[in-house]
Amino acid sequence: MKITDIHKNKKRTLSFEIFPPKKDKELDNIDETLTILSRLSPDFISVTFGAGGSVNCNRTIELAKKIKDEYHIEPVVHLTSLHYDKKEIDSFADTLKAEGIENILALRGDKRPDIPEKDDFHHASDMITYLKANYDFCILGACYPECHPESENCVEDIKNLKKKVDAGAEYLLSQLFFDNENFYRFKEKCILAGIDVPVIPGIMPVINAAQIKRMLTMCNAKLPEHFRKIIAKYENNQTALFDAGMSYAISQIIDLLVNDTEGIHLYTMNNPVVAGRICEGIKNII
Ligand code: FAD
Repeated sequence: MKITDIHKNKKRTLSFEIFPPKKDKELDNIDETLTILSRLSPDFISVTFGAGGSVNCNRTIELAKKIKDEYHIEPVVHLTSLHYDKKEIDSFADTLKAEGIENILALRGDKRPDIPEKDDFHHASDMITYLKANYDFCILGACYPECHPESENCVEDIKNLKKKVDAGAEYLLSQLFFDNENFYRFKEKCILAGIDVPVIPGIMPVINAAQIKRMLTMCNAKLPEHFRKIIAKYENNQTALFDAGMSYAISQIIDLLVNDTEGIHLYTMNNPVVAGRICEGIKNII
Protein backbone atom coordinates (compact mmCIF):
# COMPACT_ATOMS: atom_id res chain seq x y z
CA MET A 1 0.00 0.00 0.00
CA LYS A 2 1.17 3.51 -0.73
CA ILE A 3 2.05 5.68 2.28
CA THR A 4 -0.17 8.44 0.95
CA ASP A 5 -3.15 6.03 1.07
CA ILE A 6 -2.28 5.00 4.63
CA HIS A 7 -2.05 8.67 5.59
CA LYS A 8 -5.45 9.49 4.06
CA ASN A 9 -7.16 7.19 6.57
CA LYS A 10 -5.19 8.25 9.65
CA LYS A 11 -4.75 11.48 11.52
CA ARG A 12 -1.06 10.73 11.96
CA THR A 13 1.42 8.00 11.15
CA LEU A 14 4.00 6.25 13.31
CA SER A 15 7.06 4.98 11.47
CA PHE A 16 10.56 3.70 12.12
CA GLU A 17 13.86 3.79 10.29
CA ILE A 18 16.21 0.82 10.34
CA PHE A 19 19.41 0.07 8.45
CA PRO A 20 20.52 -3.19 6.81
CA PRO A 21 23.15 -4.99 8.85
CA LYS A 22 26.63 -4.98 7.29
CA LYS A 23 27.25 -8.72 7.60
CA ASP A 24 25.12 -11.52 6.15
CA LYS A 25 24.82 -13.34 9.45
CA GLU A 26 23.51 -10.20 11.16
CA LEU A 27 20.50 -10.24 8.86
CA ASP A 28 19.09 -13.00 11.07
CA ASN A 29 19.55 -10.89 14.21
CA ILE A 30 17.45 -8.16 12.69
CA ASP A 31 14.45 -10.36 13.47
CA GLU A 32 14.69 -9.48 17.15
CA THR A 33 14.43 -5.79 16.28
CA LEU A 34 11.61 -6.32 13.78
CA THR A 35 9.62 -8.48 16.20
CA ILE A 36 9.63 -5.74 18.81
CA LEU A 37 8.99 -2.97 16.30
CA SER A 38 6.07 -4.85 14.74
CA ARG A 39 4.33 -5.13 18.14
CA LEU A 40 4.17 -1.34 18.11
CA SER A 41 2.07 -1.47 14.89
CA PRO A 42 3.99 1.10 12.85
CA ASP A 43 2.39 2.36 9.64
CA PHE A 44 5.66 1.81 7.82
CA ILE A 45 9.32 0.98 8.34
CA SER A 46 11.91 2.66 6.15
CA VAL A 47 15.19 0.95 5.26
CA THR A 48 18.32 2.98 4.58
CA PHE A 49 20.50 2.58 1.50
CA GLY A 50 24.29 2.81 1.48
CA ALA A 51 25.76 5.25 -1.02
CA GLY A 52 27.25 3.57 -4.06
CA GLY A 53 27.78 -0.05 -2.95
CA SER A 54 25.68 -2.75 -4.60
CA VAL A 55 26.07 -5.33 -1.80
CA ASN A 56 24.54 -2.93 0.68
CA CYS A 57 21.81 -1.97 -1.80
CA ASN A 58 20.78 -5.59 -2.25
CA ARG A 59 20.56 -5.91 1.53
CA THR A 60 18.21 -2.91 1.61
CA ILE A 61 15.87 -4.63 -0.83
CA GLU A 62 16.21 -7.97 0.99
CA LEU A 63 15.33 -6.36 4.31
CA ALA A 64 12.39 -4.45 2.80
CA LYS A 65 11.04 -7.75 1.42
CA LYS A 66 11.37 -9.34 4.85
CA ILE A 67 9.43 -6.46 6.45
CA LYS A 68 6.66 -6.82 3.88
CA ASP A 69 6.42 -10.61 3.60
CA GLU A 70 7.19 -11.78 7.13
CA TYR A 71 5.99 -8.86 9.25
CA HIS A 72 3.21 -7.53 6.98
CA ILE A 73 4.32 -3.96 7.47
CA GLU A 74 4.68 -1.55 4.58
CA PRO A 75 8.36 -0.91 3.78
CA VAL A 76 9.79 2.30 2.38
CA VAL A 77 13.03 1.76 0.50
CA HIS A 78 15.58 4.58 0.59
CA LEU A 79 17.26 5.04 -2.79
CA THR A 80 20.13 7.43 -3.49
CA SER A 81 20.85 8.73 -6.99
CA LEU A 82 24.13 10.67 -7.16
CA HIS A 83 26.29 7.63 -7.87
CA TYR A 84 23.94 5.90 -10.31
CA ASP A 85 22.80 6.41 -13.89
CA LYS A 86 19.32 5.92 -15.33
CA LYS A 87 20.00 2.30 -16.24
CA GLU A 88 21.03 1.45 -12.69
CA ILE A 89 18.06 3.28 -11.18
CA ASP A 90 15.81 1.38 -13.62
CA SER A 91 17.29 -1.87 -12.39
CA PHE A 92 16.54 -0.99 -8.72
CA ALA A 93 13.07 0.30 -9.60
CA ASP A 94 12.23 -2.80 -11.65
CA THR A 95 13.32 -5.05 -8.77
CA LEU A 96 11.20 -3.08 -6.29
CA LYS A 97 8.22 -3.23 -8.64
CA ALA A 98 8.64 -6.99 -9.07
CA GLU A 99 8.74 -7.40 -5.28
CA GLY A 100 5.55 -5.38 -4.84
CA ILE A 101 7.31 -2.56 -2.98
CA GLU A 102 5.39 0.63 -3.59
CA ASN A 103 7.21 3.34 -1.62
CA ILE A 104 10.58 4.96 -2.24
CA LEU A 105 12.35 7.65 -0.20
CA ALA A 106 14.14 9.30 -3.12
CA LEU A 107 17.44 10.87 -2.06
CA ARG A 108 20.42 12.40 -3.71
CA GLY A 109 22.84 10.84 -1.21
CA ASP A 110 25.91 12.44 0.34
CA LYS A 111 28.85 13.47 -1.82
CA ARG A 112 31.74 11.07 -1.23
CA PRO A 113 35.26 11.63 -2.51
CA ASP A 114 35.81 7.86 -2.83
CA ILE A 115 32.83 7.19 -5.13
CA PRO A 116 32.55 8.83 -8.57
CA GLU A 117 29.37 10.82 -9.21
CA LYS A 118 27.32 10.17 -12.33
CA ASP A 119 25.62 12.77 -14.51
CA ASP A 120 21.99 11.70 -14.67
CA PHE A 121 20.72 12.88 -11.27
CA HIS A 122 22.36 15.91 -9.66
CA HIS A 123 19.56 16.47 -7.14
CA ALA A 124 16.93 14.26 -5.55
CA SER A 125 14.32 16.16 -7.58
CA ASP A 126 15.95 14.89 -10.82
CA MET A 127 15.43 11.26 -9.78
CA ILE A 128 11.92 12.03 -8.53
CA THR A 129 10.98 13.50 -11.94
CA TYR A 130 12.43 10.41 -13.63
CA LEU A 131 10.67 7.91 -11.35
CA LYS A 132 7.35 9.72 -11.61
CA ALA A 133 7.56 9.73 -15.42
CA ASN A 134 8.40 6.04 -15.67
CA TYR A 135 6.95 4.22 -12.64
CA ASP A 136 4.02 4.25 -10.25
CA PHE A 137 5.70 4.51 -6.83
CA CYS A 138 4.64 6.70 -3.94
CA ILE A 139 7.64 9.00 -3.57
CA LEU A 140 8.85 10.39 -0.27
CA GLY A 141 11.57 13.05 0.02
CA ALA A 142 13.97 14.26 2.71
CA CYS A 143 13.79 17.69 4.32
CA TYR A 144 15.97 19.63 6.75
CA PRO A 145 14.33 21.75 9.48
CA GLU A 146 17.71 23.32 10.27
CA CYS A 147 18.78 23.62 6.63
CA HIS A 148 20.83 21.15 4.55
CA PRO A 149 24.56 21.63 5.35
CA GLU A 150 25.38 22.41 1.69
CA SER A 151 22.71 25.11 1.33
CA GLU A 152 23.79 28.74 1.31
CA ASN A 153 20.79 29.67 3.43
CA CYS A 154 17.39 28.38 4.51
CA VAL A 155 15.51 30.40 1.88
CA GLU A 156 17.41 28.62 -0.92
CA ASP A 157 16.88 25.30 0.83
CA ILE A 158 13.10 25.81 1.03
CA LYS A 159 12.97 26.90 -2.63
CA ASN A 160 14.79 23.69 -3.54
CA LEU A 161 12.43 21.69 -1.35
CA LYS A 162 9.50 23.16 -3.27
CA LYS A 163 11.14 21.92 -6.50
CA LYS A 164 11.31 18.45 -4.93
CA VAL A 165 7.61 18.53 -4.09
CA ASP A 166 6.71 19.93 -7.53
CA ALA A 167 8.70 17.06 -9.08
CA GLY A 168 6.44 14.59 -7.26
CA ALA A 169 7.50 14.06 -3.62
CA GLU A 170 4.25 13.33 -1.82
CA TYR A 171 5.45 13.05 1.75
CA LEU A 172 8.51 14.54 3.48
CA LEU A 173 10.58 12.92 6.23
CA SER A 174 12.74 15.27 8.22
CA GLN A 175 16.31 15.16 9.35
CA LEU A 176 16.65 14.72 13.12
CA PHE A 177 16.48 17.81 15.30
CA PHE A 178 16.46 18.48 19.05
CA ASP A 179 14.66 21.79 19.21
CA ASN A 180 10.98 21.57 18.26
CA GLU A 181 10.76 25.34 17.80
CA ASN A 182 13.06 25.00 14.79
CA PHE A 183 10.72 22.39 13.30
CA TYR A 184 7.66 24.61 13.83
CA ARG A 185 9.39 27.57 12.17
CA PHE A 186 10.42 25.30 9.28
CA LYS A 187 6.83 24.10 8.82
CA GLU A 188 5.62 27.70 8.66
CA LYS A 189 8.18 28.43 5.93
CA CYS A 190 7.01 25.32 4.04
CA ILE A 191 3.41 26.54 4.16
CA LEU A 192 4.45 30.02 2.98
CA ALA A 193 6.36 28.41 0.10
CA GLY A 194 3.27 26.43 -0.95
CA ILE A 195 4.63 23.07 0.22
CA ASP A 196 1.39 21.30 1.04
CA VAL A 197 2.41 17.66 1.57
CA PRO A 198 2.77 16.06 5.04
CA VAL A 199 6.05 17.00 6.73
CA ILE A 200 6.93 14.29 9.24
CA PRO A 201 9.43 15.05 12.02
CA GLY A 202 12.34 12.64 12.48
CA ILE A 203 13.28 11.98 16.11
CA MET A 204 16.58 10.40 17.13
CA PRO A 205 16.73 9.41 20.81
CA VAL A 206 20.15 10.13 22.31
CA ILE A 207 21.63 7.03 23.87
CA ASN A 208 25.28 7.91 24.43
CA ALA A 209 27.68 10.82 24.26
CA ALA A 210 29.71 9.48 21.30
CA GLN A 211 26.57 9.09 19.20
CA ILE A 212 25.46 12.65 19.86
CA LYS A 213 28.85 14.12 18.95
CA ARG A 214 28.81 12.14 15.67
CA MET A 215 25.28 13.31 14.88
CA LEU A 216 26.01 16.95 15.54
CA THR A 217 28.99 17.00 13.18
CA MET A 218 27.21 15.01 10.48
CA CYS A 219 23.90 16.78 10.20
CA ASN A 220 23.93 20.38 11.45
CA ALA A 221 21.45 19.71 14.27
CA LYS A 222 21.54 22.29 17.05
CA LEU A 223 21.32 21.46 20.73
CA PRO A 224 19.04 23.68 22.83
CA GLU A 225 20.73 24.96 25.99
CA HIS A 226 18.58 22.90 28.40
CA PHE A 227 19.44 19.68 26.53
CA ARG A 228 23.11 20.63 26.35
CA LYS A 229 23.08 20.90 30.17
CA ILE A 230 21.47 17.47 30.52
CA ILE A 231 24.12 15.90 28.27
CA ALA A 232 26.97 17.67 30.07
CA LYS A 233 25.68 16.47 33.43
CA TYR A 234 25.33 12.80 32.45
CA GLU A 235 27.88 12.28 29.67
CA ASN A 236 30.09 10.10 31.88
CA ASN A 237 27.22 8.05 33.28
CA GLN A 238 25.97 5.86 30.46
CA THR A 239 22.78 4.55 32.09
CA ALA A 240 21.78 7.99 33.35
CA LEU A 241 22.39 9.51 29.91
CA PHE A 242 20.31 6.74 28.32
CA ASP A 243 17.39 7.49 30.67
CA ALA A 244 17.73 11.23 30.13
CA GLY A 245 17.92 10.73 26.33
CA MET A 246 14.76 8.62 26.34
CA SER A 247 12.88 11.16 28.47
CA TYR A 248 14.00 14.00 26.22
CA ALA A 249 12.88 12.20 23.04
CA ILE A 250 9.52 11.34 24.63
CA SER A 251 8.94 14.94 25.70
CA GLN A 252 9.88 16.13 22.18
CA ILE A 253 7.36 13.70 20.67
CA ILE A 254 4.58 14.67 23.10
CA ASP A 255 5.12 18.33 22.25
CA LEU A 256 4.98 17.53 18.52
CA LEU A 257 1.77 15.54 18.97
CA VAL A 258 0.18 18.30 21.05
CA ASN A 259 1.00 20.63 18.19
CA ASP A 260 -0.85 18.39 15.72
CA THR A 261 2.08 17.06 13.78
CA GLU A 262 1.05 14.63 11.04
CA GLY A 263 3.27 11.78 12.17
CA ILE A 264 6.37 10.71 14.04
CA HIS A 265 9.31 9.02 12.35
CA LEU A 266 11.67 7.41 14.84
CA TYR A 267 15.31 6.71 14.04
CA THR A 268 15.65 3.39 15.88
CA MET A 269 19.36 2.71 15.18
CA ASN A 270 18.21 -0.95 15.01
CA ASN A 271 17.86 -0.82 18.78
CA PRO A 272 14.57 -2.45 19.82
CA VAL A 273 14.99 -1.37 23.44
CA VAL A 274 15.03 2.26 22.39
CA ALA A 275 11.98 1.92 20.14
CA GLY A 276 10.10 -0.12 22.74
CA ARG A 277 10.78 2.36 25.50
CA ILE A 278 9.78 5.39 23.43
CA CYS A 279 6.58 3.73 22.25
CA GLU A 280 5.70 2.63 25.79
CA GLY A 281 6.07 6.28 26.78
CA ILE A 282 3.65 7.53 24.12
CA LYS A 283 1.26 4.59 23.66
CA ASN A 284 -1.75 6.40 25.16
CA ILE A 285 -0.95 9.67 23.44
CA ILE A 286 -0.33 8.90 19.77
P1 FAD B 1 18.73 17.11 -2.40
O1 FAD B 1 17.27 17.27 -2.23
O2 FAD B 1 19.24 16.96 -3.81
O3 FAD B 1 19.45 18.35 -1.70
C1 FAD B 1 20.86 18.41 -1.55
C2 FAD B 1 21.32 19.87 -1.62
O4 FAD B 1 21.07 20.39 -2.95
C3 FAD B 1 20.56 20.81 -0.69
O5 FAD B 1 21.46 21.79 -0.26
C4 FAD B 1 19.46 21.39 -1.55
O6 FAD B 1 19.03 22.66 -1.09
C5 FAD B 1 20.17 21.50 -2.91
N1 FAD B 1 19.22 21.28 -4.03
C6 FAD B 1 18.23 20.38 -4.09
N2 FAD B 1 17.57 20.48 -5.28
C7 FAD B 1 18.20 21.47 -5.97
C8 FAD B 1 17.99 22.04 -7.25
N3 FAD B 1 17.03 21.58 -8.07
N4 FAD B 1 18.82 23.05 -7.66
C9 FAD B 1 19.82 23.49 -6.84
N5 FAD B 1 20.06 22.99 -5.61
C10 FAD B 1 19.25 21.99 -5.18
N6 FAD B 1 21.73 9.09 2.78
C11 FAD B 1 22.09 7.86 2.32
O7 FAD B 1 23.16 7.70 1.71
N7 FAD B 1 21.30 6.76 2.54
C12 FAD B 1 20.10 6.86 3.19
O8 FAD B 1 19.41 5.85 3.36
C13 FAD B 1 19.69 8.14 3.68
N8 FAD B 1 18.51 8.29 4.32
C14 FAD B 1 18.09 9.55 4.71
C15 FAD B 1 16.83 9.71 5.32
C16 FAD B 1 16.39 10.97 5.73
C17 FAD B 1 15.01 11.12 6.37
C18 FAD B 1 17.24 12.11 5.54
C19 FAD B 1 16.78 13.47 6.00
C20 FAD B 1 18.49 11.96 4.95
C21 FAD B 1 18.93 10.70 4.52
N9 FAD B 1 20.18 10.50 3.90
C22 FAD B 1 20.56 9.26 3.45
C23 FAD B 1 21.11 11.62 3.76
C24 FAD B 1 20.96 12.36 2.42
O9 FAD B 1 21.34 11.50 1.35
C25 FAD B 1 21.88 13.59 2.47
O10 FAD B 1 21.39 14.52 3.38
C26 FAD B 1 22.21 14.25 1.14
O11 FAD B 1 23.29 15.14 1.34
C27 FAD B 1 21.07 15.05 0.52
O12 FAD B 1 20.09 14.25 0.04
P2 FAD B 1 18.70 14.92 -0.47
O13 FAD B 1 17.91 13.85 -1.09
O14 FAD B 1 18.08 15.73 0.58
O15 FAD B 1 19.31 15.90 -1.62
